[in-house]
Amino acid sequence: MVAHLNPGTCPLLVVKVGSSLLVEKDGAVRRDWLQTLVADVAERHKAGQKIVVVSSGAIALGARRLGFEKGGRASLADAQASASVGQILLSGIWAELLAEQGLTAAQMLVTLDDLEDRRRYLNITATLDRLLGAGAVPVINENDSVATEEIRFGDNDRLAARVGQAAGANGVVLLSDVDGLYDRDPRDPEAQLVPEVAKVDGRIRIMVSGDSSSGMGSGGMASKLDAADIATRAGIGLAIASGLRANPLAALDNGASYTWFAPREGGSARKGWIGGRLSVKGRITVDNGAAKALRGGASLLPAGATAVQGEFRRGDVIDIVSIDGETLARGLSEYDAGDATLICGKRSGELEGILGAVPRQVLVHRDQMVLL
Ligand code: GLU
Repeated sequence: MVAHLNPGTCPLLVVKVGSSLLVEKDGAVRRDWLQTLVADVAERHKAGQKIVVVSSGAIALGARRLGFEKGGRASLADAQASASVGQILLSGIWAELLAEQGLTAAQMLVTLDDLEDRRRYLNITATLDRLLGAGAVPVINENDSVATEEIRFGDNDRLAARVGQAAGANGVVLLSDVDGLYDRDPRDPEAQLVPEVAKVDGRIRIMVSGDSSSGMGSGGMASKLDAADIATRAGIGLAIASGLRANPLAALDNGASYTWFAPREGGSARKGWIGGRLSVKGRITVDNGAAKALRGGASLLPAGATAVQGEFRRGDVIDIVSIDGETLARGLSEYDAGDATLICGKRSGELEGILGAVPRQVLVHRDQMVLL
């Protein structure tokens, strides 16, 4: 871990803390443990590493105060009410413990929508940049009280990866009650920890098919893999590591095991933002020739498209799929669905006759596209 996430190799680190680490089963805050984590954060801060915290725990804490059953997760309304009570407690604890170390906490509550809308995303980037430049430690959570079910992250793993992109982080560490990815059900005595993953593909995902989570938060290993996929595509390395010990970040420096997801080459913040988008508005199916061209780095021309589905506007995110239904790429559409349908399968020379004017030659430009 030393090589991956130390201040020298990773000037900006996102640390995600799961609910099960912050809150006891009976709903009390694990204050002593949190103090040790904050001491680690202060240590790294002193060594020049900028840190953004993504903290879960609002729902679990609030549910205890309100006396709600099932840790506040019996219904969306319970979760949202719990979060609004718990968030005050949560940010209070972070502010207090960071202040003990001479650090200033900055709270930011964001929704999925905030990170999917390019303008708001860039605004978040600017705020984080200013806060980090001023030496503060942003403590971020999903704004659970206002986000509606369809547009919620629901888990802070993927949120942490998206925040990593927005902050321009070099690394993300997901601290929870597991010390990494295992090659089979971790309860199996034969199970082995996977130390490094080059790419989150089907072979990796199958390892967590019988996934289980602690029941306190909502993210299991599957959402951690999604987070790893989002982060690494943006060129950010991600570690899944255990927080079930005091000073969990220092433990990583001292040789504790973890799973490392290496950043993908050619990953960039903009492409990462597109690839990590969760709300995809439509899809364009392409023929084999176009599929090959896309893999070679070309833009998608109307001639290669065979079908258009969905209601999307110019600038919306769409998937590009092969005839066999395999998702090849994700990108921003240059056309509304209606016009895309009209020019689907047509050669460049035919476009003007159909649309009257041809503002753009391609359906999806390669600069606005990420191969999957
Ligand atoms: N945002 C939720 C909370 O603060 C946690 C989501 C998760 O479990 O990852 O309680």
